[in-house]
Amino acid sequence: MFGSVLIANRGEIACRVIRTARRMGLRSIAVFSDADAGAAHVAMADAAVRIGPPAAAESYLAIDRIIEAARRTGAEAIHPGYGFLSENADFAEACAAAGLVFVGPPAEAIRAMGSKSAAKALMEQAGVPLVPGYHGADQDPAALARAAAEIGYPVLIKASAGGGGKGMRVVRAAADFAAELDRAKGEARAAFGDDRVLVEKYLTKPRHIEIQVFADTHGNVVSLHERDCSIQRRHQKIVEEAPAPLIDEAMRAAMGKTACDAARAIGYVGAGTVEFIAEDGAFHFMEMNTRLQVEHPVTEMITGIDLVEWQFRVAAGEALPLKQEGIGRRGHAVEVRLYAEDPARDFAPSTGALARLRLPAESRHLRIESGVRAGDEVSVHYDPMIAKLVTWDEDRDGALRHMAQALAACEIDGVQTNLDLLRRIVTHPDFCAAALDTGFIARHEAALLPARGAPPVAVLAAAAHRWLATLPQSGDPSDPWSPWATRAAWRLNGERFQDVVIEDGEATHHLRLHPRDERHFRLDHAGREVFVCVDAAGEDEVSVEIDGIVARLGTSGQGGRIVVFADGARHVLAVADPHRAAGEADGAAARVTSVMPGKVVELAVAAGSAVREGDLLAVIEAMKVQFRITAPRDGVIAALHCAVGDLIEDGAELMAFATDTD
Ligand code: ADP
Repeated sequence: MFGSVLIANRGEIACRVIRTARRMGLRSIAVFSDADAGAAHVAMADAAVRIGPPAAAESYLAIDRIIEAARRTGAEAIHPGYGFLSENADFAEACAAAGLVFVGPPAEAIRAMGSKSAAKALMEQAGVPLVPGYHGADQDPAALARAAAEIGYPVLIKASAGGGGKGMRVVRAAADFAAELDRAKGEARAAFGDDRVLVEKYLTKPRHIEIQVFADTHGNVVSLHERDCSIQRRHQKIVEEAPAPLIDEAMRAAMGKTACDAARAIGYVGAGTVEFIAEDGAFHFMEMNTRLQVEHPVTEMITGIDLVEWQFRVAAGEALPLKQEGIGRRGHAVEVRLYAEDPARDFAPSTGALARLRLPAESRHLRIESGVRAGDEVSVHYDPMIAKLVTWDEDRDGALRHMAQALAACEIDGVQTNLDLLRRIVTHPDFCAAALDTGFIARHEAALLPARGAPPVAVLAAAAHRWLATLPQSGDPSDPWSPWATRAAWRLNGERFQDVVIEDGEATHHLRLHPRDERHFRLDHAGREVFVCVDAAGEDEVSVEIDGIVARLGTSGQGGRIVVFADGARHVLAVADPHRAAGEADGAAARVTSVMPGKVVELAVAAGSAVREGDLLAVIEAMKVQFRITAPRDGVIAALHCAVGDLIEDGAELMAFATDTD
């Protein structure tokens, strides 16, 4: 066995590979771009080498720089992870030429499976069942259209060089074929520099089932059973599980054997995945991924095998540790991919700093694979995955229960995430009944991506409490502009109360708080009287008791923007206090400043306008939430320092406010 390994990757997979390397006594070497200098995988490795600027083409995809990093650090082997260079035959060859062990299959096997068309031709020869389709060399549009008509609509056009769902178009009728072909080719050219396509029958309610295979250099090929990856968005997996529910043993065995035959047919070595699409009890070869898959942990959870350890052993020339008969299966595992993306905006990636990242503690039933930490940036340069959550139990129901609990305990702020969607999927009755197919998300969109309802009163109470608790406290109680003075004002008249207006997107919730002491208050909300007892339950955590039921909620933010985390949902709320000054006293004139960076979307006043205390002055938009800036008291606007559309910094002066006493 070699003694050191360089991991030519980043994020969770780099961390995951380092963990096994460490357990096996291998020295681990990370590489990083300038964007990742402070990243978790760099901190975790025994050594790390800077390889270039943030753009992947100049760092994680730069073969020369990675080989050079290995040479400089004396690395003996290179593990490519997934993505980046993991399926690049030139990279595998460059490693060999530099005397490095490439932890992956031979370059010829990568090439054989690199083109979806060529792979299909090869598999056809090996007797592997294919989806009916055309994967020939003739790329003449008229010939492709004829092939589509023969196959019968609907058809799917796929980029031969494809991956990540790019260059893939569904065509439902002959009239649309030419236009969709143009689009597919355009996408393929942009993504892969190769616009060749294949055409195949589009199955309307299929499942994606794949077989994990492993082969060594001694002629052994085994299957580590199947995974079901049918829950997809934009043809990409977000929930995976093993074993595949509701398939009979005969089909399971046939798929395992076919996958091993496919691996043998190309002289495969190492970890690989043969992907099938299955419908009505039949299965067809889709493609083979010649690397470790994102979803490999579910296989590890049910087999008890560390796939990365096997990769190292096979790369070092050892025989597979187990024969087919020795590869067991126990219980059920589910994985979800937690992404920084916005499901409501067609899953567009969401970038920004992870202002808050709290994931539940790992246990026998919960494994977490993450490569980011609180404060890290989700940037435009790389995949926006935040973490993978993997749960295991003796049966599927148990694994799903653990997953629902784990997702409910996640608290993430700073970016949009698919957390709520994932939670809705793993608790959906059809999903729980294993009614799986690749159209699941589209079919259940209304239930999975519902319009947001009003936040529960516990969330509003937690927000109000957070807002009060984080008001800046002035050292000078006589300062009339201090929000602390506002707090004190509760006690000025007989009936102590504080009005709070909480905005939740378009909706506005009016609360009147009647404090009884530091912990208890009565809350009038929507005509209902609620008694609330709020206790700090840890840093940025409160327990809220309403009608004898205690809920634990996370909170963050201060001033106008408060975030409450409850049951996996994130409520971004804007708190507007009609009595609170947005400005500060500065002699006779007050400066009105913004409490956050954002964009001025509305100006309600002009220089010279007379305003009353609490009148709207301006609206600032930040993080897609609008915040109202109101007049600190009666007076006149002396000067305006901003215009609609301006991007402003935190604390920027928006306008000068002259008081009546001028
Ligand atoms: P990529 O390599 O771009 O990810 P794949 O060939 O692996 O593309 O296919 C991705 C997904 O697209 C599959 O998991 C499946 O959901 C869907 N898909 C692929 N081929 C077909 C088909 N013939 N009919 C219906 N859906 C398909």
